[in-house]
Amino acid sequence: MPTFFRRPPEHRHNAPTIELERVSVAYADRPALEDVSFQLRKGERVAVVGPNGAGKSTLFNVIVGTVKPSSGKIRIYGSGPAEHTCIGYVPQRNKIDWRFPATVWDVVMMGRTARIGLLRRPGRIDRQMVEQALVEAQAEDLARRQIGELSGGQQQRVFLARALAQEAEVLLLDEPLTGLDTPSQQAVLEILDGLGARGIGILVATHDLGQAAQMYDRILLLNRRLIADGPPGQLLTSQMLSRAYGSHLHILPTPGATVALADECCSDEEMGEGLELVG
Ligand code: ADP
Repeated sequence: MPTFFRRPPEHRHNAPTIELERVSVAYADRPALEDVSFQLRKGERVAVVGPNGAGKSTLFNVIVGTVKPSSGKIRIYGSGPAEHTCIGYVPQRNKIDWRFPATVWDVVMMGRTARIGLLRRPGRIDRQMVEQALVEAQAEDLARRQIGELSGGQQQRVFLARALAQEAEVLLLDEPLTGLDTPSQQAVLEILDGLGARGIGILVATHDLGQAAQMYDRILLLNRRLIADGPPGQLLTSQMLSRAYGSHLHILPTPGATVALADECCSDEEMGEGLELVG
């Protein structure tokens, strides 16, 4: 019988959950990532901070294997990025076609497909996992709704539930709070806190420096190249941020604090000018 399901690659004992070694990506010869190396260990909560166009989404796409690097290596628990079910990807909401006719239940069950294969029907355990994921993402009341009719916050919670149903050990979240109102942001942050407490690792892309500094153990400052990698206190200095955001950062010294305002647009030409790799 033909099989449409391949077992996920074995995890190598003691290997980092995610490891990038000198990864570069170019779209039609335009570099989007250059020489990026870092590791994420089990359960770590790390923010990737950088302006629009810095390569954050590209970074996530190479980690899940949907974009191929032009050079360098990506390893998930010691092997290539394809077919790992331990990585749950929650893309930016504006990159999903919400007109797709599917209920919330269907979308969350899609998280199980990677585990059960395309041809097998979901069993009792799969249904239980979906129910549990919906509860954990505070979305159990939405199960029968069409995804296209949900609010932004509800959509975000449904995609979190899908990653949980997949039994992901680390979530890649691309700008999860962008465009959400404050109560919806709070709900998502609460869910992420719960996942952190359960040892689920998080790699979140954001251009919100304040949020990154408060919520994450470690920050990767990215602007095509990795400018810096370390705890927020060490990185969020005006000097470091200027190197990531260039002329798009306005430093406002105030009594007792430095406020950094980053504007959101960067043309490709301006990005990365004068940046160099730290360390
Ligand atoms: P970010 O997520 O930080 O905003 P992206 O990874 O989306 O950054 O984009 C990095 C650069 O790569 C940008 O210059 C963007 O225009 C370009 N880019 C991203 N995706 C593609 C693509 N599919 N084809 C061509 N260029 C792309």
